[in-house]
Amino acid sequence: MIYMSDSLNNAKRNVYKVNSELQNSHLVIQNFGNASSRFLNGFVIKPSGIILRESNHKEMVQMDLEGNKLDGDLNPSSDEPTHRILYTDKDINGVVHTHSKYATAFAQANLEVPNLGTTHSDFSKYSIFVTEQLDKDEVVNDYELNTGKKIIETIKSKGISMLETPGILSIRHGVFSWGKTIEDALKNAEIIEYLAELCFITRNLNPSSETIEDFISSKHFNRKHGPNKYYGQ
Ligand SMILES: [Zn+2]
Repeated sequence: MIYMSDSLNNAKRNVYKVNSELQNSHLVIQNFGNASSRFLNGFVIKPSGIILRESNHKEMVQMDLEGNKLDGDLNPSSDEPTHRILYTDKDINGVVHTHSKYATAFAQANLEVPNLGTTHSDFSKYSIFVTEQLDKDEVVNDYELNTGKKIIETIKSKGISMLETPGILSIRHGVFSWGKTIEDALKNAEIIEYLAELCFITRNLNPSSETIEDFISSKHFNRKHGPNKYYGQ
């Protein structure tokens, strides 16, 4: 048996655990989802096309940031290039991808999820944005890599840092969320779905519901994430 370092073994255990939690959550049907965690100079991600409950942590795949597989018998998830591009942002240590129902509906409709209330403001002052459209060439060649590039470009174009938003809607596709840890990325995938559903209900009740006032939004975000944060629920 090939020697596996304790730290790699632990990283694989954690990635397997979070992928299992994701798989068992309401955010994923069938096999539409994956999670990864930064590890050393790369990351660990779920392999492609496995049935998680029939698998185990040893099958998780270690990648570097150039797209080389460093450890694992199987191929990484087909979304690996998107995860890889997101790890070029040094603040991000975990990435989750889902096709959760309400958020994906917004992505398909090319509609961002506006900040309508304090629940949203607790996680971001901004809308959950939708990426710009990929052109035909970007889809035909290196689609997953270009999906990641569009995410970075879209966040940059908004003038914010990646950690100022829990994630993004990849146009016509689904959710990519991220965080300081893989656990945060999973929580953020959950909150994005919840915010999309809340927005859908709110705008159905009152189609002209406006975005929250900036001073309330800032208060909520800063008491949880600002330099003088004090809020815990
Ligand atoms: Zn997908």
